[in-house]
Amino acid sequence: MEFFDFHHHKKNIRNGIYNLDIEQIPPDFPYSIGIHPNDIDIADIDHQMVWMKDMMFQNCFAIGECGLDSLVPTDQKIQEEVFLQQIRISNEVKKPVIVHCVRKFYEVISFKKKAEQPMIIHGFNKKRQIAEDLLANNFHLSFGKAVLYNLSLQDILKTTPLDKFFLETDNEDFEIEELYLKVSEIKGISLDDLNEQILENLHTIKNG
Ligand SMILES: [Zn+2]
Repeated sequence: MEFFDFHHHKKNIRNGIYNLDIEQIPPDFPYSIGIHPNDIDIADIDHQMVWMKDMMFQNCFAIGECGLDSLVPTDQKIQEEVFLQQIRISNEVKKPVIVHCVRKFYEVISFKKKAEQPMIIHGFNKKRQIAEDLLANNFHLSFGKAVLYNLSLQDILKTTPLDKFFLETDNEDFEIEELYLKVSEIKGISLDDLNEQILENLHTIKNG
């Protein structure tokens, strides 16, 4: 069985969403394109935006990863401005937004109002209250490797509605199949059903 990897950085994985590096040429499989807070080049931001718009080909599945990161030295106001610009692009091109967020969840929630397309928090690994607030605000959550060993995260996943999550490897070196197996166990559903559910979720976010 093939398992969809919602967010990854590995060129050898075709069944998933490959996150383009800044200024990279897109591959011939699904990808996301965006400006990560860490990659914002204030002196060159207009050019970075042009790159985004010019590289949005047929296989572009989503905008991102983009968002807010309190650990990145770039000024928060600038991060917010660049995030907002990307949300506007997502509205224009009608593609979902894959969100990178570090310690800025309530700011990200406040930006949801500006988004007309689904927003997915990738690499979710925080407390239950934050998960609940995100879900209540109609975000999707994408879970990664931490689910394999983090019991409180497993507990959060257990109560996350089936139609509200995705699974990803991100930068981590492990097989996505391992995560699907773990999650099918946590949710008490078969691997087949889980696989089908994730494909259905993809379909849902693709259609806004
Ligand atoms: Zn990533």
